[in-house]
Amino acid sequence: MFYLLNILIQMKILLDNSSLYKSLRPFNDLGFVPTMGGIHKGHLSLINKSNRLCKITIVSIFINPKQFNNKKDLKSYPRNINKDLKILKKTKKVDFVYLPRFKDIYENKNKSKIKLNKKDIILCAKYRKGHFEGVLDVMERLTKIVRPKKIFMGEKDFQQLYLVKKRLEKKYKAKIIPCKTVRDKNNIALSSRNFHLNKLNFEVAANIYKQLVNIKKNIKKKKNILNFLNHKKRELINNYKIKIDYLELRNKKNLKTSKKMNNSRLFIAYYLNNVRLIDNI
Ligand code: AMP
Repeated sequence: MFYLLNILIQMKILLDNSSLYKSLRPFNDLGFVPTMGGIHKGHLSLINKSNRLCKITIVSIFINPKQFNNKKDLKSYPRNINKDLKILKKTKKVDFVYLPRFKDIYENKNKSKIKLNKKDIILCAKYRKGHFEGVLDVMERLTKIVRPKKIFMGEKDFQQLYLVKKRLEKKYKAKIIPCKTVRDKNNIALSSRNFHLNKLNFEVAANIYKQLVNIKKNIKKKKNILNFLNHKKRELINNYKIKIDYLELRNKKNLKTSKKMNNSRLFIAYYLNNVRLIDNI
């Protein structure tokens, strides 16, 4: 009880939409950091940026079942709300935490009409059917409920950032603010799913990051980039005994396949210990 009270003093927890509407009414310079919990330093960097650019910062924690294309992944997704609240409170930079119930988000039963354009069914959209439709739907619902001025999102999930920006900025006043990927000391991109990795997995992930840097460095010298990347992909699969969904160089403005380094990023999705990891550099 004392613990909960202590949290309430500095950081208000909103457990449903009516308390959210009441509490947020006086504010219009709202920075919003949507998360699925398992709070780590990547999330905290978004919160820091919101705190710098906006008067009020609101963080949501909602594990959106509709964006999981794999039931096992949803079931095993890290959940520890008390730990998350403790970390958020310690930052002293979060004014509100929104912990909606399923019905708060989906009370408007309008069926989502979201359909990705054919040209957007690439990278993760190609391998995770329905995932981004679920992400776009929940982001649109959250935006309508929270009415933020700015939404802070990580470049680690580059395709998500790209698709959300494209859809939301057309329809709402909110501006999407991209935030750099935060990495651990071995340059592994922080992710809530890293919680499921063992020591050996972390070693492999660190090596894969090094390989990505190397591949990117060498791409410049290659005439046929597609062949080179296919060759490197096979090499990674054989050397580390991993499954790779994609290893692709794409233009960072429109995500089209790219044949040159300028304005491009190297994207990878691979599995370690049945955990699907993504990165882009
Ligand atoms: P999640 O809780 O994984 O849905 O992530 C919530 C937000 O944090 C998304 O905008 C992510 O892109 C962002 N995020 C997750 N990991 C990182 C990271 N390592 N660096 C920067 N942003 C991140």
